[in-house]
Amino acid sequence: MADKIKLALYWGGTCGGCDVAVLDIDENILDVAALADVVFWPIAMDHKVKDVEAMEENEITCSIYNGVIRNSENLHIAKLLREKSLLMVAFGSCACFGGIPGLANVTNREEIFEKVYRDTASTDNPDFVTPQTELDVPEGTVTLPELFDTVVCVDDVVDVDYYIPGCPPTTNLIMDFLAAVKAFVNEGADLPPKGAVIASDKTLCDECPREKKDKMLTKVYRPHEIVIEDETCILDQGVICLGPATRAGCEAKCINANMPCRGCMGPTAAVYDQGGSMLAALTSILNITDREHELSEEDIFEIVSQVKDPLGTFYRFSMPKSLLKRSVREKSGGS
Ligand code: SF4
Ligand code: SF4
Ligand code: SF4
Repeated sequence: MADKIKLALYWGGTCGGCDVAVLDIDENILDVAALADVVFWPIAMDHKVKDVEAMEENEITCSIYNGVIRNSENLHIAKLLREKSLLMVAFGSCACFGGIPGLANVTNREEIFEKVYRDTASTDNPDFVTPQTELDVPEGTVTLPELFDTVVCVDDVVDVDYYIPGCPPTTNLIMDFLAAVKAFVNEGADLPPKGAVIASDKTLCDECPREKKDKMLTKVYRPHEIVIEDETCILDQGVICLGPATRAGCEAKCINANMPCRGCMGPTAAVYDQGGSMLAALTSILNITDREHELSEEDIFEIVSQVKDPLGTFYRFSMPKSLLKRSVREKSGGS
């Protein structure tokens, strides 16, 4: 067998679930141990950043980055790992297209600090002290990362070779990728083409076993408002399911649990804006598209406003990579 490869894993702005997903691959973790020496993994091991800084260019075979670029430390480590790694992988919805932390782009740093350090009932902070990036103490200067105003994804700041989507990615996708790396290392096999998404190119609907009908909806329900029948398409039952706009590959986890898809695998290659794609599908199912000339703006608004929390529904996992990217506010009169 060839020498072991060197593997690095890092969490940026994240919930930690992606690191747990790597640990959650059961006995397959033994394959990883046989294949790779882990040289950096802050959540699990005690390597230091200076250990990585001391490495040669491309000394790490593969770096797996989960989470968003939320602060200056995330940016520094993304650049450092890129410099030291042959392969850079965006792992999980956050790293690939922003995920849940990407929804912070509806606000900004100033508003977040106001909310967290002044306006909460549990905070006693009359001088409105906010996190400082430097603090002088008798022992020297302590530094903390700077929180950025806008959430961006790892490929917005460094070159990325592969994407493994999902919140978190499922074991089958992790194993598909590790198998490809293993074949590359042990047998000299070709890796997937650069930029590949390690998942199906189909939509979730293409792989969903539920019976679909060409049905027009008159009413939209939230999942708790009806008893979802378990063999018929959930969208046909009036509950928003993002299957038509979402990449397949998760083995239909939520659908099999009789819950609608929220879109965590992100858009397919054919679609840039996942939320826009779902909105287009929905206007067709709600019979707006073909009646556009008959309906007034008020009629359309009334039909569409049945969807509660449109931003969270259509862009829950993809806002930083959508056409919206972030909300902007005009500065006028100090507001
Ligand atoms: S993709 Fe999901 S599980 Fe992974 S870090 Fe982001 S929120 Fe957590
Ligand atoms: S909309 Fe949802 S339930 Fe219906 S076919 Fe697509 S994935 Fe399945
Ligand atoms: S069904 Fe949708 S939300 Fe659930 S795991 Fe699959 S892609 Fe993610």
